[in-house]
This record gives sequence, C-alpha cells and structure tokens, in this order.
Amino acid sequence: MVGKLRLYHFISSTLTEGPGLRAGLWVQGCPRHCPGCAAPETWDFDGGFDKDVAVLAKEILAVPKLEGVTFAGGEPFCQAGALASLARLLRQGNPALSVICFTGWTMGELLASRDPDKKALLGETDLLIDGPYIESLAENDRPLVGSSNQEFHFLTPRLRDWKKGWGASKHRLEIRISPDGSIAANGMMPGDVLREIVNKIRNGAMENEIL
Ligand code: SF4
Repeated sequence: MVGKLRLYHFISSTLTEGPGLRAGLWVQGCPRHCPGCAAPETWDFDGGFDKDVAVLAKEILAVPKLEGVTFAGGEPFCQAGALASLARLLRQGNPALSVICFTGWTMGELLASRDPDKKALLGETDLLIDGPYIESLAENDRPLVGSSNQEFHFLTPRLRDWKKGWGASKHRLEIRISPDGSIAANGMMPGDVLREIVNKIRNGAMENEIL
C-alpha cells in the first residue's frame, strides 16, 4: 500500500524541468502563499485531483528514454511520504532515474525536522531546490529557480555535472495545445510574459509562429 498523491498537474515527459527528459509532478497544496508565486492555483489543499502512487509509477516507468522525475508544486514536502514511496517505486523499476525536488522550506529546516516522511523524501532526492520565492530577490540567471535566495543542493553525485552546463540551460518554456483547444504551459517564465503568450495563442495572434 503506497497511497495516493493530491496533484495539480502531471506531465509524463518534459524537457523544461531539469536536465534531460523528465516526468513532472506538481503537487496540490502549499501553506506558504509567497507574494508573487507563479502558481497560486496550487495553494488550495482541496483543489487538484487524486492519483494512485502505484499507477503513477507505472505510467512514468513506461515512458521511453526518461532520465528522471521532478517534484514541484505546491509544496512537495507536504506530501513527502507519498512522494518518497513514488521515488522508491521508480528506482526499483529504473535505478538510473534521478529525482529533483523543490521545496519552500530551507534545507536546514528540513534537516531539523523530526518528520520521518520528510527525511524519507530527502533520502530519495538527488537535487533539492530549496527556499520560498521572494519577489524582491527575483532573478533570471540560473535555470529553474525564481529568486536568488533559492539554492541547489546536490545531495548525491548523480546530477552534479549538470551544473557545469548551466550557461546553456537557462529557463525554458513548453506550451502544449491539446486537440480540444486547451492550452497548458510549464517551465520558468515571468507570470505576465507567460499570460501574454497564452493569450496571443488563444486569440490566434501567434498562428504563423505555431504552424
Ligand atoms: S512555496 Fe512555492 S508554491 Fe508555495 S507559495 Fe511559495 S512559490 Fe508558491
């Protein structure tokens, strides 16, 4: 019995959420409510949808050439037990998969916690990206992070080489347009720029660029 996750969004393969082809999970629920957060839709713990951890693991392991998984949110460490279970199942199926996890807590706060679930998720994480988004410290220099207080903690050697190639791996954005016309975007981009791009697509103003 490995339980369920409450998710805001799931993408089985993306190139924007860290090095290589990765599955991306955005958990639902965050208690922090940082001003300027790019994803306030993820705050409500009653929002989103349930997903069985074992089913999710099976779906992720079926993706060809996948290199890892990224846990974002929302606050992943509010569902640390289920995410640790998912990471363990993924590693059982494919020991080469790497795990990146975001958190609004600092690494120090997590290490000081006595919560066994938080410790379990830390134990499954190769790269922890920590700290809340702080609007006054917004930065665009490093990939994945939104503000300069956020740090990369390479907890295992698995992803350390990625740091050497940062110059070529700034923020990326993926936009998916489904046959039903719905538009979804992931990656890092200032919220106002992203909204402008999505509105242009919706209004047909970028039709030539898309085709
Ligand atoms: S911790 Fe992350 S998801 Fe939560 S409010 Fe802050 S930026 Fe948003």
